[in-house]
Amino acid sequence: MANRTIHFDDCLHEYLLSVSTREPELFRRLREETYAMPESSMQIAPEQGQFMQLLVELIGAKTALEVGVFTGYSALCVASALPADGRLVACDVSAEWTGIAHGYWKEAGLDSKIDLRIGPALDTLQSLRNQNPRPTFDFAFIDADKQNYDAYYELALELLRPGGLIAIDNVLWSGKVADPTEVEPDTVAIRNLNRKIAEDERVSMSLVPIGDGLTLARKR
Ligand code: CA
Repeated sequence: MANRTIHFDDCLHEYLLSVSTREPELFRRLREETYAMPESSMQIAPEQGQFMQLLVELIGAKTALEVGVFTGYSALCVASALPADGRLVACDVSAEWTGIAHGYWKEAGLDSKIDLRIGPALDTLQSLRNQNPRPTFDFAFIDADKQNYDAYYELALELLRPGGLIAIDNVLWSGKVADPTEVEPDTVAIRNLNRKIAEDERVSMSLVPIGDGLTLARKR
């Protein structure tokens, strides 16, 4: 039926990729290197990366924040969509994972746009918030430890300009958020944030069923 989101089987998903992804060769190499890692499910899908590039272009973002870099695919997407004088502040705790990221950013000529901050993202975001003058951001992507999602959302909202956009990954959490018998802390954290944002008058929002679910929240 046309009045609800379509169900994707493998065949339709392949078709979607075949007519809509424009993934550059360098991006594909990073994605494939990451697929070989045990943590590969932490990497976003290529169609999601391309969607985020489009969002960054649509809002004319010049400054962006990323919470959770992993091996750098999403930062590659966002930074490549920023103008030449754009800047992405990218937060992660792992020097090992972001070491892989940095090699690809450099090869893509994007490393000068990306300001990598190794350390707990809460510390980085709080120090940005406490800076005088406080920097403002046009776009934020949140894709890190789920139990801090609410805190990341609040800090990102403070750092965003009115009209800026927050994108939050994994909000459908493989469907576990819809199953009340799933009470593991990560699931509960995402479920609570989903409910909160649905009712949050500070933003306009949509939960987009791309990848593992991506909430878009525009600061009013
Ligand atoms: Ca993710």
